[in-house]
Amino acid sequence: MNKKVRVRFAPSPTGGLHLGGVRTALFNYLFAKQHQGSFIIRIEDTDKTRFVDGAEKYIYNTLEWCGIKPDESPLIGGAFAPYKQSERKSLYKQYAEQLVKNGYAYYAFDTPEALEQKRKSVANFQYNQHTRMSMQNSLVLGAAETEKLLANNIPHVIRIKMPENEEITFTDMIRGEVFFNASLVDDKVLLKADAMPTYHLAVVVDDYLMQISHSFRGEEWLPSAPVHILLWKYLFGLENMPQWAHLPLILKPDGNGKLSKRDGDRLGFPVFAMDWKDPKTNEITIGFKERGFLPEAFVNMLAMLGWNDGTEQEIFSLHELIEKFSIERIHKAGAKFDYEKAKWYNHEWIKKLEVGDVRLKVKELLGDIANNYDDTFIDKVITLVKDRCTLLTDFVQQTSFFFKSPETIAIDVIQPKWNEQKKVFFTELIQQFESATIWNVTELENIFKETASSNQLKPGEVMLPLRIMLVGDKFGAGVFDIAALIGKNATISRIEYVLSII
Ligand code: GLU
Repeated sequence: MNKKVRVRFAPSPTGGLHLGGVRTALFNYLFAKQHQGSFIIRIEDTDKTRFVDGAEKYIYNTLEWCGIKPDESPLIGGAFAPYKQSERKSLYKQYAEQLVKNGYAYYAFDTPEALEQKRKSVANFQYNQHTRMSMQNSLVLGAAETEKLLANNIPHVIRIKMPENEEITFTDMIRGEVFFNASLVDDKVLLKADAMPTYHLAVVVDDYLMQISHSFRGEEWLPSAPVHILLWKYLFGLENMPQWAHLPLILKPDGNGKLSKRDGDRLGFPVFAMDWKDPKTNEITIGFKERGFLPEAFVNMLAMLGWNDGTEQEIFSLHELIEKFSIERIHKAGAKFDYEKAKWYNHEWIKKLEVGDVRLKVKELLGDIANNYDDTFIDKVITLVKDRCTLLTDFVQQTSFFFKSPETIAIDVIQPKWNEQKKVFFTELIQQFESATIWNVTELENIFKETASSNQLKPGEVMLPLRIMLVGDKFGAGVFDIAALIGKNATISRIEYVLSII
């Protein structure tokens, strides 16, 4: 690769960032870092009607949470600033006009009402080579009339004049040779009446001006590619064009179509990286972060949606991904999203990380209840339960009872098999625990077994009641591990409490 690698993630700030968008950012980032190149964030906000307050900041926060750091962006600037298209408005017009001058585009004066009328009267109306000569544009009106309308500031747009009978082709790094029949594509607007470019013009001009070497984006942009290729050809020459790769879609779990936010709502899983609050409705859509995902797991899971390194390896750190990633190994077919698999990644990462790496997050989740405990104790608790937690939020259930007595006791689980013999056993167990001089797992287990045996009970008959006394319910780490950690006083008082209410 001789050209310096410069890639861009170019989101439009129209709402929460769907996981497909984050994956696009990730793949761009991995490629840039692997080639010692630059990863650029460009905000494509030329469509004012779709602008959503807070969406831009949300994009930065999401990428930061994922550990995807830009080299240039609207926030940190860079040699090609500004990086927000609305701030580059004045740049685009000259290119649109150059296209008109060279016969590749034309002025169109059709009013929004006239277009609406057309759409109503003609089914599937397209402004294209078949219809353009029946519309109000410079191709029909001729030079003199056009000049007059322009001089009188009559509102107009600039449209690309799609060629007839031309095959447009380019090489996609994932799909190989891609062919389009230009006559099937409509004459897209390039410059709007307010002189703001449309996405099609802005993306090409900015990729050129920002010296982008590779444009990787979602497959949904593939139908727009012929327009972009033509613009590159007409404006800058194809040899300067970035290499393209259109990333496969992320599909619904059943493989039927693109995964949408609605699927997440319907099936009960997040599709956004972080909580997104719609500023208009105040509706909050839950994110992977708030659901209890580690960024390491989220990024790992995303990378595997449509890519693998050709081996059986599934767990990759961001660092390893940078090393092993390759665009050519991305599959052409869409990748089905599987929430259970996403959770599996998280579980693996929770197990893999050091206690110190999750301590802060667990403390945050626990809030006040862990306040009076030092990190050594908290670390012991985390070490004990780590493997049982699939989501970070599971730590709350798995650890709360280490810090305070359970709020509720599932007494109904013990009650049916409760009898005098068991009561005697637990009373004696309290005494034995009381006089224990060593308080560790082995010692506690021995005391428990001996007391059971001297009361003609099998340990299995009294194990569950002891768990419920200490934990409150039928779950948790090894019961003697728990007793060893919460200590003598808490163990005894929890047993005493249940004996007093049963
Ligand atoms: N602004 C487009 C989007 O919102 C970016 C498409 C591209 O990368 O060319 O997805």
